[in-house]
This record gives sequence, structure tokens and C-alpha cells, in this order.
Amino acid sequence: MILVVCIPCNFVIRIMPTHAANAMGEREVNQLLGPDSNLWPNGFECVKCGKNATGMLERAADPKVLRTMELRDLTPHEAFAAFNGLGPVSYTHLDVYKRQSLS
Ligand SMILES: [Zn+2]
Repeated sequence: MILVVCIPCNFVIRIMPTHAANAMGEREVNQLLGPDSNLWPNGFECVKCGKNATGMLERAADPKVLRTMELRDLTPHEAFAAFNGLGPVSYTHLDVYKRQSLS
């Protein structure tokens, strides 16, 4: 899974794979938002504060650090819309919660 981490506002978006019929495959996700995209790794703009956010693979992130951050799960479609300014997803429309654990 892909994480987009904003250090200035302590905010993480996690891009979750979906099981819907029209879900993007992992390859497509990588091309739109992941290591094969032109956003990767430093082209993301935090949807919360607008500062520069960094893409990383979840397996490369430290779970202890992530646990202290505000984390939100988005589908690939939502994330693509959010990071390309297409809406309708925006920070204020998302559910806010803190994850206790990523495992
Ligand atoms: Zn931010």
C-alpha cells in the first residue's frame, strides 16, 4: 500500500486497494500515484495544509511513527482526485479518525 506523508501537519493518507468491480489494479495505482507516477515521491501536495507531502511505501514506513500521526484511508480513485485537485474529496469531507495500529 502507498502512504503519502505530510510531516508539517502530521498527516498521512493511506491509499487502500479496493475490491469494487471497477477497482484499479496495483499496477494502475502505481502509475497514477505510486512509484511509476510523476508525483512520486515529492510531487504530492498535502490535501490538508497544501505543503509538500512525500510518497512512501507502507512497508518502508515505521509503524511506531505512523501511529502518532493522523491517518486517513482513501481508495485509489479518491486519492487520485484529491491529489489532482479534481474533488469531490477534500479534507473537510473526509472522516477524521486516528488509527490505533496499522497491523
Ligand atoms: Zn499537511
